[in-house]
Amino acid sequence: MRSIKELKKQLFFNQQNIQKKITDQKESEKIANFAEKYKTFLSECKTERECISYFKFQAQNNGFSEFNNKKKYNPGDKFFYINRGKAMILVTVGKNNPESGVSIIASHVDSPRIDIKPKPMYEKNELAYFKTHYYGGIKKYQWATIPLSMHGKIIKRNGEEIELKIGEKADEPIFCITDLLPHLASEQMKRSAEKSILGEELNLLIGSLPCCENSLKEETEHSDLVKLNVLQILNKTYGIIEKDLIAAEISFVPAVEARDVGFDKSMIAAYGQDDRVCAYTSFQAHMELKTPEYTILTVFADKEEIGSNGNTGLESFFLEFFITDLAESLGVNIRRVLEKSCCLSADVNAAFDPTWSDAYEKNNTSLLNCGAVVTKYTGSGGKVSTSDATAEFVHKVISILDANDIVWQSGMLGKVDTGGGGTVSKFIARFNIDVIDFGVPVLSMHSPYEITAKQDVYMLYRACTAFANRNI
Ligand code: MN
Ligand code: MN
Repeated sequence: MRSIKELKKQLFFNQQNIQKKITDQKESEKIANFAEKYKTFLSECKTERECISYFKFQAQNNGFSEFNNKKKYNPGDKFFYINRGKAMILVTVGKNNPESGVSIIASHVDSPRIDIKPKPMYEKNELAYFKTHYYGGIKKYQWATIPLSMHGKIIKRNGEEIELKIGEKADEPIFCITDLLPHLASEQMKRSAEKSILGEELNLLIGSLPCCENSLKEETEHSDLVKLNVLQILNKTYGIIEKDLIAAEISFVPAVEARDVGFDKSMIAAYGQDDRVCAYTSFQAHMELKTPEYTILTVFADKEEIGSNGNTGLESFFLEFFITDLAESLGVNIRRVLEKSCCLSADVNAAFDPTWSDAYEKNNTSLLNCGAVVTKYTGSGGKVSTSDATAEFVHKVISILDANDIVWQSGMLGKVDTGGGGTVSKFIARFNIDVIDFGVPVLSMHSPYEITAKQDVYMLYRACTAFANRNI
């Protein structure tokens, strides 16, 4: 007779902390080392442009070159395609005929943040501000009274391009959205959390001193002297005038470094782990590949946080156009390639948060430290707006994970009627490609400081490697 304990172990599908499965000290060291490199990446790359230029630089150092549709490619060849500096496709040609399909891992490199309006600068009561428009789904109150750094690009009226990054170094200024002191907030505190700070109240403080040119000293009747002073500083430093701010992409993101969390240092807090955790792990896995059986495409998309719209998002045809060019240069039919291909839509999932347990259905929620998350479908309210992976494809993916000793768990976003969300999977499924959502659990998702577990991050990296090297 078997014990109940044995029988449960044999028959139940339970999540298990990775820690309990690690017996090798070397494995713990690998997890810690990987986390250090990941943290450096998170602290250095906070916008889609910064991620793509980092990936381009690293890929070129690893022997990848720009894709050329006139060239004939062979197994083992490595190249990349970049769309407007904001999205990228990395490729390593596999041994198999591409008509047997390709592997795709698709993540996104944009994250929720505070963008500026096209005509942002104004002065009020001798303080200078930027008007902003937030990007992606945020709880607005989380973005006030935290240090924000300025990242972006401005094309000056003469066509000269300037890249900006202000507020990441200790000797540089940061920027801030102010909030009302509690003493005077009795009216504000009656607002719902959704409205405690409104979109038009997300105003960024950028200066407080008036222009003090000698010739202006007597002309006290002049207004907007603080705004003038800020513009004068920008003009002296970068040669820009107010009008140049329209031909620009300027974002404000948390000016905080990635840090360890907890006495045991088991977790990582950082801005933008949705979805740079998947971008970084899939990138690292791809860099270390030899020649896989199946041709592998690692995609880093932009605009996911605003619905994948726009020409650098996956609702654009750039991925399809690229695969068409690739199929032609490999001498195969695109449709034969697509229908046999399979994709991990690599994106984060909501980790179970005991403090907010009511939002989750615990049986179907991913837990921190229990490994990579397989999400059969996303969407909301009646599986709306999702791609639901087939039984056959789920079986294929978990077979690859199990064969490679990857610790994984099944996870969904939350209770059925509570809300939901989507990923890029439905835009990939449109091509008749098999696709499934895959990622790691994240606490405080879409906040300025998101939390992941180091063991999960490492497991995701190993899972990307296993998927890229699949032989089924
Ligand atoms: Mn995401
Ligand atoms: Mn997101």
